[in-house]
Amino acid sequence: MGFPPDVLQYVKKKGKCCNCGRPLKTTKWISFFQMNKKATWTYPVWGNMIVPGSLNRAMAVVCAQCRKRAMTKKAKPFLPKHAIEVQLDLSRPGTGLPFSPFQPNGLVYHKVQDLEDVFEITPEMVHKAELEHWHKTTGGRVV
Ligand SMILES: [Zn+2]
Repeated sequence: MGFPPDVLQYVKKKGKCCNCGRPLKTTKWISFFQMNKKATWTYPVWGNMIVPGSLNRAMAVVCAQCRKRAMTKKAKPFLPKHAIEVQLDLSRPGTGLPFSPFQPNGLVYHKVQDLEDVFEITPEMVHKAELEHWHKTTGGRVV
């Protein structure tokens, strides 16, 4: 999923790394990490629109160092300690976005170990869902 630029800026300015806990304002860049954990909040979440039951998964934001470390350590799958929730102020719509500005303390960190596991979205599942979707929308006709 894509993030509105002001969400990224806000998280970078006010947030901390979900893995090492360091403030993100000094890191070169931030990176969002998708986890196979159930999110009990509304934003940000990820999933595959066409794979049934795969939406509302938790995400973590990590600093450049942790991301780099995650990319090089292949032996153990990288799992940040926390997931991030950004609480958006839906009562004050901003320009060009369905939300914004933010509530003063709009960042919540959830312990990953407390979150429920969800199934992994495999390429096969995506392929199958795409085929089913195609059949549903076209009746199987080649258009
Ligand atoms: Zn970090």
